Amino acid sequence: MEFGIYNYQEFKDIATKFHGYPAPGIMLGAYMVELAKDKVAPYLENHGLYNAISETRQCLPDAIQLLTPCTVGNGWLTICDTGRYALSLFNKYTGKGVRIYLDYEKLNAYPAILEWLMKLKPKREQNSEQLQEEIKQAKQTICSVQEITALPQYYGKHDKGAVVRCAICHEPIPAQNGIICAACQGKSPYLTEKTADIQLKAVSVEEAAGKKALHDMTKIVPDEFKGAQFLAGDTLTSGDMCELQRMGKNRIYVVDEENEQQNQHLYTDAGIIQDMDTPQYIHENECAKALGELLGGKNVQSQKEIREGKISFLAEQDGILWLDEARLQEFNSTGDVIAVTRKQASRVKKGEIVASSRAVPLYLTKQQWLRAKNVLRKGALFSVYPFRQANVGILITGTEVFSGLIEDKFAPVMQKKVQQYQCTVMDVKFAPDSRERIYKAVQELKQDGADLIITTAGLSVDPDDVTRKALEDAGLANYIYGIPILPGAMSLVGELKEQDELAKCSVIGVPACALFHNITAFDVLLPLVLANVPLTRDFFARRAGGGLCENCSACTYPHCRFAV
Ligand code: ZN
Repeated sequence: MEFGIYNYQEFKDIATKFHGYPAPGIMLGAYMVELAKDKVAPYLENHGLYNAISETRQCLPDAIQLLTPCTVGNGWLTICDTGRYALSLFNKYTGKGVRIYLDYEKLNAYPAILEWLMKLKPKREQNSEQLQEEIKQAKQTICSVQEITALPQYYGKHDKGAVVRCAICHEPIPAQNGIICAACQGKSPYLTEKTADIQLKAVSVEEAAGKKALHDMTKIVPDEFKGAQFLAGDTLTSGDMCELQRMGKNRIYVVDEENEQQNQHLYTDAGIIQDMDTPQYIHENECAKALGELLGGKNVQSQKEIREGKISFLAEQDGILWLDEARLQEFNSTGDVIAVTRKQASRVKKGEIVASSRAVPLYLTKQQWLRAKNVLRKGALFSVYPFRQANVGILITGTEVFSGLIEDKFAPVMQKKVQQYQCTVMDVKFAPDSRERIYKAVQELKQDGADLIITTAGLSVDPDDVTRKALEDAGLANYIYGIPILPGAMSLVGELKEQDELAKCSVIGVPACALFHNITAFDVLLPLVLANVPLTRDFFARRAGGGLCENCSACTYPHCRFAV
């Protein structure tokens, strides 16, 4: 039998039924699947169970589904679209197995397959009989085999966890998706109706006397005054009418019976499973108050006062403002609320305003509110990481300086820079370009209590540049070397692995350019390291735009566009 329990013709018939027609890709795929089943056997221990990945959406997944127990529906087949005509089968518990791919180098003898694969001719001009014939002849000879280990998300057990009901459409969804489903977050695949806005009744200014204002009303006198002249709940008097007209108001929203009724009606709308207490509409001030409790994380305090629907946040300590950038974007993408902050990784001082937030409409509907709140379910959007006062060990590397041939200029520059942050320099050591000597000096600094080691030079591409290797010997792990900031791209930042008795120790490697330029990557890295923010290559990669110093004649860093 050609394909498991089927001969060629039987499989062709089944493929026709399942796929609509016996596409060349599915016939070729069948040979690939059979080869994979054969090759994966030694990896399957005694249980014989495997998962599959198809690297294309075209045809191949159907060959896998017809010839193996793996389907998209049972979760054992994943389509991971790399665009390559390849599949893999691997042990369900270890991820180890084989990848089978269509090997371009082996297609010389099969012009029709090559023509089909590379789309050398339009489909209607391709000779489909010859193509099918070549596939039948070539069988598995045009494939190659690779050993692979799949990433953990493609094997093992995945518990979908608890199920809840979406707070908007009420359909059951996995709790890990949040309190509302993706469709209700605006990611529906259908053209659905938009939730109707709340209709509030407005009255003319003359009619407003004796009634209560429904929201704060702002007065602006250019260059003189901007603020809330009337607050929500204030009873408007006939004397206020002129002032309101001067403020440019012709019609205003007041608390009246009709608006109240709408309120009542909306409050009693039944059928909400979660957030039973969430009213059907939320006034901008109520929204700001709630945002004041939800948006800010550690060392951030929301202002007590809410005016004109806006709430602001203050830093409680000197430090680095750290944003959850992805969720901040998500929050603002809802369109119903905004949160604006100072730039990611800004240096902030205690008492400074770091962020501000407000609802966009006067009243948010329950749906709009839940959509915004859903973004916040994983916690705050920003916090302040305070600076630590580090015990700094400086290690000057380079044989010329060590031997006294050249005078060191690095130590005083570094000393001055770390003192700006109230750090103490506990020792300055010198080492020649020797991996062993640099390693020893780093160990000594660490043992003497340094919790930040700054090494200078030896970070370039020269064979004598051994600082990085020596730091690795001393336990430097998960470091970032090669940072998209100029000057200072050859900088290094990381940590020495924690050993039992020794505390955590950060490392910054400073290349020689820091002697020539006033501001380099070091000035960007130092405060981030002192604040212990979670640095990743991604973080720097996102900031490559702006990472080039403009070399202004009068330097105003950090009040400029350079780096973070
Ligand atoms: Zn929903």
